[in-house]
Amino acid sequence: MVKVTINKSILELIEGDITEQETDAIVNAANSSLLGGGGVDGAIHRAGGTKILEECRKLGGCPTGEARITTGGNLKAKYVIHTVGPVYSGGKKREAELLANAYKNSLSLASQFKLKRVAFPSISTGAYGYPLDDAATVALKTAINYLKTHTDVELVRFVLFGQKAYQAYDRALQELVK
Ligand code: ADP
Repeated sequence: MVKVTINKSILELIEGDITEQETDAIVNAANSSLLGGGGVDGAIHRAGGTKILEECRKLGGCPTGEARITTGGNLKAKYVIHTVGPVYSGGKKREAELLANAYKNSLSLASQFKLKRVAFPSISTGAYGYPLDDAATVALKTAINYLKTHTDVELVRFVLFGQKAYQAYDRALQELVK
């Protein structure tokens, strides 16, 4: 586990499963239909139960880079923030900007709902194919910048699934805070 202080808040990296987090919200790497999928999306809907999907159905989808909020259903987290990262196709399709927007808009929703502790997975780095090291830098830069400019969110935790993802985020963070 790595923990750094940014302004008055904490940025944390852990290796683990996002569905088990006790933060106020967990973030889902959803697809634009918001109707469920594989990877972390499937895991969240399995663990959280049908209430989440019921609310998702009413939202009518979510464009890439934006975010929506639902109940956390049976999860320990009270809310799920669903965001849609970009599908990676070479890096010249504004993927970095869209990935940063996904993090930024998720954090803005947390602020709007007065949620102090938010856990993120590594958005876009599974089925959507975003290279892990580059995604880690974008994710961490965006979170750091948000925490520098907003004191209401007190904890941002990245929950990395497996050692490879954890190590990529760890390296990227060392690079950004040195
Ligand atoms: P995307 O479509 O945005 O790429 P994926 O769910 O395919 O989303 O993958 C995003 C990341 O989430 C990957 O790094 C994957 O290893 C990770 N992941 C999968 N299951 C979990 C889980 N239960 N908790 C945290 N991260 C997970």
